[in-house]
Order: sequence, then C-alpha cells, then structure tokens
Amino acid sequence: MDDYDKQIDQLDVLGSTQTVIKQALTKLGYPNEMYELLREPLRMLTVRIPIRMDDGSTKIFTGYRAQHNDSVGPTKGGVRFHPDVTEREVKALSIWMSLKAGIVDLPYGGGKGGIVCDPREMSFRELERLSRGYVRAISQIVGPTKDIPAPDVFTNSQIMAWMLDEYSKIREFDSPGFITGKPLVLGGSHGRESATAKGVTICINEAAKKTGLDLVDARVVIQGFGNAGSFLAKFLHDAGAKVVGIGDAYGALYEPDGLDIDYLLDRRDSFGTVTKLFKNTITNEELLELECDILVPAAIENQITKDNAANIQASIVVEAANGPTTMEATEILSERGILLVPDVLASSGGVTVSYFEWVQNNQGYYWTDEEVEGKLEIVMRNSFNNIYQLAKTRKVNMRLASYMIGVRKMAEASRFRGWV
Ligand code: GLU
Repeated sequence: MDDYDKQIDQLDVLGSTQTVIKQALTKLGYPNEMYELLREPLRMLTVRIPIRMDDGSTKIFTGYRAQHNDSVGPTKGGVRFHPDVTEREVKALSIWMSLKAGIVDLPYGGGKGGIVCDPREMSFRELERLSRGYVRAISQIVGPTKDIPAPDVFTNSQIMAWMLDEYSKIREFDSPGFITGKPLVLGGSHGRESATAKGVTICINEAAKKTGLDLVDARVVIQGFGNAGSFLAKFLHDAGAKVVGIGDAYGALYEPDGLDIDYLLDRRDSFGTVTKLFKNTITNEELLELECDILVPAAIENQITKDNAANIQASIVVEAANGPTTMEATEILSERGILLVPDVLASSGGVTVSYFEWVQNNQGYYWTDEEVEGKLEIVMRNSFNNIYQLAKTRKVNMRLASYMIGVRKMAEASRFRGWV
C-alpha cells in the first residue's frame, strides 16, 4: 500500500473503490496513467433544481450526474433519490457501474445520478416535478447514445416514466431508449423489476454449489426490503430456503423457523418499510450478526465494517446493495474463509436487463419473460464462474477478481482509443 492508500477513510466509498481499482490495474500490468484516467469520472455535473412545493413554497434541490468512462460505449446507471446522496458517493457509484458493465460484458461505461431529497416526505406531484426538473437540468449530457439513466434507491418505474416523458418533450420525439426500468407500456422490459434480485439469486445458487450448501432449508438473512431485498426474499422462500431475518431502515425482524414472507410482502410500503408494524423488532446491527448460512446486505453502504466483520456467522455473504462491506471487512471475511460475492458482480442483474430493455427499444422488437430470464441466467452464471475461477488462479479475493475483470475491457478500450 502507498501513502495514499494508508490515509483513506474506510467509510469513504470513493477512496476505497479507487484503492481496489489501483490494485486491479497493477495486477493486470497497467501503468499508473491508466489508474489516473479511471480513478475519477470523466464528467461530473452538479445541478440545482428549483421545485414548487405543494404548499406554494420553492425548494432548491441539489442533483448530480457522473459519467465515469465512455470508452466502451454510452454510460449507464441509475438515479437515486436519498437524503444522504453526496458527490463522492455518486462518483463511486458511477465507477461501480463501469465495473458491472465490464463484468457482465455490456457495451457501456458507468454512469450514476442522485438527488439529495427524501421522497418519503414528498407528495406524488412534488416527486413528478422533481423528476422532470432533474431531466431538464441534465438533458444536454444524457440520451440513448450518450448516457442512459435507470432506477436506483427510492426511484421506480413511475419516476422513469416522468423522466422519459420530459426528455421526449425536450427532444420533440419519443425516445424510449433514453432511460430503462420503464413501465411495460412505455417500452419497459419483462423481468426488469425483479432483475437485480434474480441476478443475486443466481449468484447465491452458484455460491451454494461451490461451498456444498443445500439451498433447501438454508437459513437466509436479508438486510433491506426494497426492490432487491423483497423480490429476493420471495425467490429464496419459493426455492425452499428459510428467510429467518429481514430488515428495513427502521429495524429488523427475526424468526428462527422462517418468516412469513408472503405476509410481509403484502404489508410493506413502496419504500420497503414493514418493521414499523411489529413490536418485537431487533436492530439492524443484531440482524447482521444472526446465526444463518447466507447473509445478503441489500440496503445501503458500509454495513459490514471492521467492527462487526468478526461476528458475521454466515458462510456466504452476497452483496445485493452497492458498497455494503468496507475494505477492512472484506479482508476479515476473506481471512475467515467466508465466500463474499461482491456487489459489482452480485447486483449486476439489474443493469443486464436494462441493457436488454435498451436493445429491445432500439430494435422496436420485444422479448418474452422467458427469453429475458434465460438470457440473464446465462450471463450471470458465466460471470460468476469467470470471477470465481480468476480468484482461485490468481489467489485473490472475489472483490479484487471482480475488479480485475470489470476494469479490463474499459482499460483496453481506453488504450485502443489512444487515451492512455
Ligand atoms: N441502479 C442499478 C444498479 O446500481 C441499475 C442500473 C441500470 O439498470 O442501469 O446497478
């Protein structure tokens, strides 16, 4: 490690990502110039969006759009609406999108957007105005062949629909390939809503095969009951696993014999909140340390840290969220022989089906649910096994192996273009 690496704050997701990018490029034999190119997004736009609130007042929201690297193709990645969004976080998220695109071999670079806001405290119409205002603010740098947004934390197909409508109005033609994660009737794809969870499920299946774990009756803990966590709970429950714990932003539920997932899915709100309805809750800290076979952090960043990594009881940790495990915790889990399937691999099912959606929009020809699912299964299985194999042969952990595969195509493309 050099001085820069020593100084990094473990909870700084951008600094941590840069460190692993550097390690990956060094392992692949690239010079430092390549790291200099890839350590930050090529473009970062900050916008201030004035929105008329329902009570007649005006509020100014801050938004970002980061475009990490477009050597392979247009940039691609979601937009999150969350009070904790920061510029550094959006930058890190855009780098992770580049890595995901490389891992599942999509013709994209990474992009990401965010607005500092709390959609849980906004009305439907305020959210519509904010979504449209964001698109107007970033319209010059996005588009179906430039940078393609999608859903992320606290954004959904309705928000994608407003954004599509605003963009189409600005451009004066319908442009479904501008954004993915749309409702089906506006050119969305079958299987997009559940795609991240499907991808995580495929990774869990592959990881279970490698470690000899039978998924039937395997005990699973899922932190987060949003889009990824809720579909995942359903898929694993239907596959015969026992989901013994789930958590949301307010607390967690534990039932050693398995939770009633269908009931919880029925009662959750659109932000994935369900624990408020119960009295006997535990904390999210307790949830992560529960006795289980598979732990899936599917919420926010920096959940598994040096402070709790030694107490994790699962033998497989699969990251459905972006950035839930710090670098130090990654080391601790690896040393303890826990199989950690990193975010950039495990959560890449979402962007994979977003790619399928964009391809369908460009062709004007739409696929069935079965076609989408079959194609996703092949992509995810191959990606998992390529990374698993590389980790074994190069004797590195799955995160570094994922970064090596994720960064390779983008570095090659940047070299061919003569950028480095
Ligand atoms: N926001 C999702 C992610 O972090 C999906 C991005 C997309 O579909 O473009 O992977």
